[in-house]
Amino acid sequence: MKAAGRASKLTSAKAKKAARSRASVQRGAQRGAGTNPARVAAILAKLDEAYPAASCELTHGNAFQLLISTILSAQCTDVRVNQVTATLFPKYPTAEAFANANPAELEQQIRPTGFFRNKTKSIMGASKGILEKFAGQVPRTMEEILTLPGVARKTANVVLGTAYGIASGVVVDTHVQRLSQRLDLTRNEDPKKIEQDLIAIIPQERWILFSHQLIWHGRRVCMARKPRCMECNLKKLCYSKDKTI
Ligand code: SF4
Repeated sequence: MKAAGRASKLTSAKAKKAARSRASVQRGAQRGAGTNPARVAAILAKLDEAYPAASCELTHGNAFQLLISTILSAQCTDVRVNQVTATLFPKYPTAEAFANANPAELEQQIRPTGFFRNKTKSIMGASKGILEKFAGQVPRTMEEILTLPGVARKTANVVLGTAYGIASGVVVDTHVQRLSQRLDLTRNEDPKKIEQDLIAIIPQERWILFSHQLIWHGRRVCMARKPRCMECNLKKLCYSKDKTI
């Protein structure tokens, strides 16, 4: 009986290992062929060379303001958000002020950023959540921050990474998504899966800076429509079908 039990345990362990291996192969197939450690390290070195001090371009004075700016930045440029928050933050200096705002007034104030009705709901909901559940402080964990209305992983990663220096994931916005695909670091389309692919190949201590660097590169060189490949210091490493040289 003992021998039979041991054999059964071994079979079950083997089955689990095989299942893990199959899942890993499947993930790898989606992850992109360009993810070998030497190539990833070369990409990181080139990004460091081009953008050693890349940082968040949303103007903010604290974690709460960054949270509001990031909510406003959905489908909007950082430049436009910064124009709006230049007058918004003096008028609503605290979470209390936003939580008790007149929704119609707030909608008009943030209207230039687009989707202003939904954004007003998210801003007021998040402000109330911060006051009621977190004593007025933006929480410092992914689990907690995701409980706030209107806050998904992208916003959470921006706030935790930039305001608190906590690397709990990689920000996957439209630039990070496009560049990760062009650089063949992922073949996924879903931002959550792309983030998991990047987490698997980028060292954790690089997650925060790497997001900023890809966003900067996407804004300045590797644009969506006409990437400036001639000026790109990654061109030797890039074999994207969108490459223009
Ligand atoms: S070579 Fe062109 S497509 Fe490739 S990363 Fe550079 S700018 Fe983007």
